[in-house]
Amino acid sequence: MTNGSPEGPPPPWPDIHRTVLSTLDALASSTGWIPTAATVGIEPIFERVLQQICEPQGLTPSAYIDLLTRDATLRGEVQKRLAKLMENPALVNMRREAQRREAEHQLHVLHYLLSGQKPPDWVWTSLDEEQQEQLRDAAESGEEKDPVLLPRVQGALRKLAMTPTPYGQCEDCGTAILLERLQLVPWAECCAACQRKREGVPDEPPEPQVPVLYF
Ligand SMILES: [Zn+2]
Repeated sequence: MTNGSPEGPPPPWPDIHRTVLSTLDALASSTGWIPTAATVGIEPIFERVLQQICEPQGLTPSAYIDLLTRDATLRGEVQKRLAKLMENPALVNMRREAQRREAEHQLHVLHYLLSGQKPPDWVWTSLDEEQQEQLRDAAESGEEKDPVLLPRVQGALRKLAMTPTPYGQCEDCGTAILLERLQLVPWAECCAACQRKREGVPDEPPEPQVPVLYF
């Protein structure tokens, strides 16, 4: 937005950048931000940090983001810290818990969709009109019955019901399946790499180590 007034001195970017880094470092050793990050992600927290640092200088967070977009070194320094925040074990656990509840609901809905069974009230009332319509159609026609997906959905629901739950763990290598993958494929049995092996697809180069793609 602004890069400082044409007559005034240039914005104190080095100071601002240092303050951003030290604020993110301080966050990493505190815990108050974790519940927020678990529900809305790291972006709003990062934005608030930028606002608090940029606004007293008469600058906008987007001017700082512009600077990062142009400078790979500065960007890397910020990304490394955001990635560290995202890897906080308490945050990962909370996100995994939230994902598990979401997956459980999705899988129940899918189970009724695919099997054409009448869902119990707690599932029915949680659906939007379109989903209710789909369920009605499925129940009437039986066409939605899927011989491949249904057993996978049932398998995932069985895992969710076990204690301790093996849901979200790769069946082949035992590592935790990435949350992003589980969001897309809640019935996934394996991590992406093992799934490729199962399907005989050649391995892809490892995914980038910095999972935060904020800019
Ligand atoms: Zn695996």
